[in-house]
Amino acid sequence: TYVVNDSCIRCKFMDCVEVCPVDCFYEGENMLVIHPDECIDCGVCEPECPVEAIKPDTDPGLEKWLSLNAEYAKVWPNI
Ligand code: SF4
Repeated sequence: TYVVNDSCIRCKFMDCVEVCPVDCFYEGENMLVIHPDECIDCGVCEPECPVEAIKPDTDPGLEKWLSLNAEYAKVWPNI
């Protein structure tokens, strides 16, 4: 799965949302998150992000953000 990190906070560009083929972005209070069970790992969102907030979960140091994406995707609205 791909993961959104804190670089997204207050960014709110929505380019990533528009390209996602499975609509797995969710909108939180101040950042977007990706639902890890819905993401199909296509990777098309990563280059669309102007602040490089979207990374594959295989990148190091993303454990905290992976769990937050999973948690928030369940309570925040799908966009
Ligand atoms: Fe959507 Fe593909 Fe990005 Fe996953 S990697 S969030 S499926 S655009």
